[in-house]
Amino acid sequence: MPSEQPHPPVLMLVPGAYDAQAAEPHLLADADAPQLRVTDFVATRGDGVFETIGVFDGTPVNVGPHLARLVRSADRIDLPAPDLAVLEAALQATIDAHPPVEELTVRLSLTRGVEGSGEPSCWYHARTADDYAPQRAGIDVITLDRGVPSTVNETSPWLLAGAKTLSYAVNMAAFREAHRRGAQDVLFVSGDGYALEGPTSTLLVRRGGRFSTTPASAGVLPGTSVASVFEALRSEGYEVAEELMTPADVAGSDGAWLLSSSRLAAPITTLDGHALPVDAELTGRFEQVLRGRG
Ligand code: PLP
Repeated sequence: MPSEQPHPPVLMLVPGAYDAQAAEPHLLADADAPQLRVTDFVATRGDGVFETIGVFDGTPVNVGPHLARLVRSADRIDLPAPDLAVLEAALQATIDAHPPVEELTVRLSLTRGVEGSGEPSCWYHARTADDYAPQRAGIDVITLDRGVPSTVNETSPWLLAGAKTLSYAVNMAAFREAHRRGAQDVLFVSGDGYALEGPTSTLLVRRGGRFSTTPASAGVLPGTSVASVFEALRSEGYEVAEELMTPADVAGSDGAWLLSSSRLAAPITTLDGHALPVDAELTGRFEQVLRGRG
């Protein structure tokens, strides 16, 4: 179906992800035409990994950390590391192929490929970002039990907790549950009662001069955004920590956010109906950091 975006999205295929000598390591394709084989393992099994990179005024943010995380996620599903120089060049070509916009959302997908081929599929897709202004002003969040303990990566590493796989149906179902309950987002809670992350975002909590996030060891995706915000906070003399928190800790905090590369910093206005303080000025500072203007 043709897109209803202000600009047509850009699709860049990356056949050179594992073959830098390919005649065309990356090439433009029609984003509105069928491109994926129905037997690609990502279509039949959700078997692949991805990254979403924010591009602000033409500049992609945190490219190195995103590509490094893609390699880690690929490793978790036993895919070899793709050629990073090819991926970097293809990213720039993708951005260049899109008309200049203030905010562009670029998704990089790497899949196990067509059944029987043994060749992973790789592509970039870029589109004008959604309008996140309402969510950057504040979001109502509900907690949902993820049903696994915070020790999941020790007990059940095959569940791939903390890998950014293309099996996001559960994450999308959580969003729909939030919408059914009149909220906009979700804070997953571990089976043993700890606050984890959102379906597509990282938790950041302020208690006085101390800012905390969930440790990656609890089975959450290590966020590129929280790493940038931590670096900025540290340079301003704040204390930052990775530590387990309960939903009650979050509800009783001096402010909490869900951070991600495209929506940036969304302050939590309510958690399960409990109001949290919102600091618009600090949120704006986080936003600048996450736009790469920190
Ligand atoms: N946690 C999950 C499960 C995510 O899917 C994402 C991003 O999509 C994040 C956290 C935030 O990661 P980043 O800040 O690198 O965008």
